[in-house]
Amino acid sequence: MKNEKAIVVFSGGQDSTTCLFWALKHFKEVETVTFQYGQRHSQEIEVAKSIAAELGVKHTVLDMSLLNQLAPNALTRDDIDIEQKEGELPTTFVDGRNLLFLSFAAVLAKNSDARHIVTGVCETDFSGYPDCRDVFVKSLNVTLNLSMDYEFVIHTPLMWIDKTETWALADELGALDYIREKTLTCYNGVIADGCGECPACRLRKRGLDQYLATKERG
Ligand code: ZN
Repeated sequence: MKNEKAIVVFSGGQDSTTCLFWALKHFKEVETVTFQYGQRHSQEIEVAKSIAAELGVKHTVLDMSLLNQLAPNALTRDDIDIEQKEGELPTTFVDGRNLLFLSFAAVLAKNSDARHIVTGVCETDFSGYPDCRDVFVKSLNVTLNLSMDYEFVIHTPLMWIDKTETWALADELGALDYIREKTLTCYNGVIADGCGECPACRLRKRGLDQYLATKERG
C-alpha cells in the first residue's frame, strides 16, 4: 500500500487522529475529510483543520448540515441531553451518519484518485451504532465498489481494539503525546484531557490510565 493514496475520515478526535497517523505510516499520500453537520462545538472543525495543517495533509470540509435537518440529535442540539437508556441507542446516535460519511468520502476519494478509505469506527467500545459494525462496513465496501465500478478498500484499524489498545497503537505510531495534547474527544468541547465528566471523556481517560499503568509495569 506504500505507493498508494488514502483518504481518512477525520474529526480531530482521538480515534480518527490515530487513524491519520496509521495512514501516514502505510500510504504514500494521505488526505483528510471532515464533515460539518452542525456539531455543538464548531471547534471540532477548527481542531481538525489545525491538526491536518500541522501534519501537512490536505483537508477537505464537507457540508453535511442536511443530516441535522433530517435527524436532530444530542451532538447538534443543546436542548437534547447526551444519555443512554437501558436497551436503547444513545441520544448521540444519528441514523445513517456513518453510511453517509463513508459514501461521501468514497466519492471524494475516487475524484482524488485514492482507493483507500480509512475510518476509526470500532465495535469494541460499541455504543450500539449499527453502521459502525464490521459487517456493515464490509457490506458498504461491496456496494461502493459496485456503485462506482471502482476498487475501494475501506480500512478500519480500530475495529477490534478497545480504548486502551487505541492508546497503545498511538504510542507505537510515535503519536501518544501528540494525540493526548491536540485532539478533541469531549462532548463539552474541551481539548486534550477534556472536561472529565462526559461519557466520551470518561471512556478516553479510562483507556489512557489503563494503558499508562500497563506501560509502567513494562
Ligand atoms: Zn468531556
